[in-house]
Amino acid sequence: MSAFRIGLGYDIHRLTSGRTLVLGGVTIPHEQGLDGHSDADCLSHAIADAILGAAGLPDIGHIFPNTDPRYKGINSQEILKESVQAASERGYRLVNIDATLIAEAPKIAPHLKDMKAILSASLGIPAEDIGIKATTNEGIDDIGQKRAMAAHAVALLEKATA
Ligand code: MG
Repeated sequence: MSAFRIGLGYDIHRLTSGRTLVLGGVTIPHEQGLDGHSDADCLSHAIADAILGAAGLPDIGHIFPNTDPRYKGINSQEILKESVQAASERGYRLVNIDATLIAEAPKIAPHLKDMKAILSASLGIPAEDIGIKATTNEGIDDIGQKRAMAAHAVALLEKATA
């Protein structure tokens, strides 16, 4: 039986005024931020769901309900740490992550190195094992019209051997 498990995650949040934009744990200067119960870091949420999915666990909405006041404004790096921990409790260690952020603006490239460093610390894997791509939506649909940002992610887990 294969010792590997792959997981897929997706998340989308609306952009709104008066919120701080946080992506991959990095606060990015921008005229709008993502709306949500937590810091609304859609990139980190997609990664968390990929990890949880690979481990066969319920999604982050189940583990961190947005009706629970304890998670109001939570730093999503805490969600990532707990997701890795939950997978670890099921006997899996994280091998690598790959993610794509879809955002019309601002430019993400200048922040990739910082994102990888923060995610590396949260996930407990080297920055080299974290892929982050960013693309625009070519002006199409709500993401293209700067009303939302979305992210897709995959995670590979390996059954830990004692
Ligand atoms: Mg989310």
